[in-house]
Amino acid sequence: MPGTGNKFEEWERIVNAIKSCRKCRLAENRRNAVPGEGNLDAAVLFLGEAPGRMEDLEGRPFVGAAGRLLNRLLEGIGLRREDVFITNVVKCRPPNNRDPKEDEIEACRPFTEAIIRLVSPRIIVTLGNHAGKFLIEGYGGGRWRGITAEHGRIRKVRVKGIDVIVVPTYHPAAALYNPKLLPTIENDFKIVKSVLEKEKGSRGEQGLLKWLRGGSLERK
Ligand code: SF4
Repeated sequence: MPGTGNKFEEWERIVNAIKSCRKCRLAENRRNAVPGEGNLDAAVLFLGEAPGRMEDLEGRPFVGAAGRLLNRLLEGIGLRREDVFITNVVKCRPPNNRDPKEDEIEACRPFTEAIIRLVSPRIIVTLGNHAGKFLIEGYGGGRWRGITAEHGRIRKVRVKGIDVIVVPTYHPAAALYNPKLLPTIENDFKIVKSVLEKEKGSRGEQGLLKWLRGGSLERK
C-alpha cells in the first residue's frame, strides 16, 4: 500500500490483477486489459470511461485520436503526459465501443479505487459522463446532473481516505465528433490549471513544478 512499501511493486500487483481479472463480461472480448499509465506520484489523475480499439490493441490508455487531443489539452495548460496519471472506470474494452454498463463499472471499482489510493492525486479530472457520475455520486460529491450541467464545476470527494478535488469535463472523443465542444473542454482545462495554481500556495513556482512531477514536497 502507498507509504508502506514500494509503490512500483504495488502498481505491478494491481496491473497483474487487472490482466488476469474476469469479474465482468468485458473480459470475454478484450485483447489487452488497459490498467492505466503515468506518474505514480502525480498530483493530477485523469479518469476516462473505457479503452477503445487502439487502446485494446496496445494495452495503453488514450493512444488513439482522443489520446492525441488529450495530449494537446495537457500541453495547453503546461503539463506533459508523463506528469499525470491516466486510467478509466473500466479497464477492458466494451464491444463496439459501447458505453460501459453500471455493473461493469461496479465490478471494476476495486481496481479504480486501488489506483486512486496508490497515486493519491490532489485533483482528478473526470472525462465524460460515466466517469463524472462514478466519482461524484460514489464518493460524497453530491448529485450528478449530467455532464452538460456538471462540466467545469469543482467538487470535493473522499476516495478510500484520500481527499480529492474533482474537475469534470467532457471526454476528448466528444470533441472529435462535435468540434464545437473543444473550446468548452479547453476552458475546463483552464479551470484545472487555476486549481493547480491555487494549490501552489507557499510552494512557489519551482515547488509547484516539483510537486506536479512527483517531487518529494509534502502535499497539503
Ligand atoms: S473491466 Fe475491470 S472488472 Fe471487468 S474484466 Fe476488465 S478488469 Fe475485470
